[in-house]
Amino acid sequence: MGLIDIQSRIATATATAGRPPGAVTLIAVSKVQPPDRVEAVLAAGQRIFGENRVQEAATRWPPFQARFDAIALHLIGPLQTNKARQAVEMFDVIHTLDRPKLATTLARLADERGTSPVLFVQVNTGAEPQKAGVLPDEADRFVAEVRALGLPLVGLMCIPPAEDDPAPHFAMLAAMAARNGLSGLSMGMSGDFETAIALGATHVRVGSAIFGERIQAAPDAPA
Ligand SMILES: *Cc1c(COP(=O)(O)O)cnc(C)c1O
Repeated sequence: MGLIDIQSRIATATATAGRPPGAVTLIAVSKVQPPDRVEAVLAAGQRIFGENRVQEAATRWPPFQARFDAIALHLIGPLQTNKARQAVEMFDVIHTLDRPKLATTLARLADERGTSPVLFVQVNTGAEPQKAGVLPDEADRFVAEVRALGLPLVGLMCIPPAEDDPAPHFAMLAAMAARNGLSGLSMGMSGDFETAIALGATHVRVGSAIFGERIQAAPDAPA
């Protein structure tokens, strides 16, 4: 179980970047991992977890939430509008807001419930046709739209193309967040979280480096 190792690498990368301790939140990405591995990470004290499918999270987490306090769940995979209600009931943070229809649905649910998960807008920094996220040149306008709906937007998220150097993508996302007055940056995974921290990540999403390789590939995981 690599949790301790990842925590210490995050602390070192944060200090090396001249950023204060605690500036980076670790999201342990538990998608597809067997329950015994998730339980071991919970027992070691981790409380912030990422899942990429609403349905998988809905079956996996209630039993753990009955046994462990203060678990925070982050949705890091695409969200279909017809699953939005279930998602807002279960997740504390949604990293994948990427289109107007989903924004208006989340706004309606927020009005109805009097509360909303904290939100990140996903940006498709590599403009990959198959990937979710707003295109880079549409991001500023979409951020304004989300804000106009009164939603609690805190930052931007990206998944760089698997074959690219991630650094320019992280830098682009950081610049975009800065010019929009957003302080949250959800970027960096097992292979590149230290680079992301150097470029300002506030939330890193680390799966296999903590839990071990995923036994079964998640259907919509990045390659
Ligand atoms: C699976 C996934 C991760 C974690 O990937 P690892 O390479 O296992 O760390 C991070 N972000 C998203 C959006 C994912 O789907």
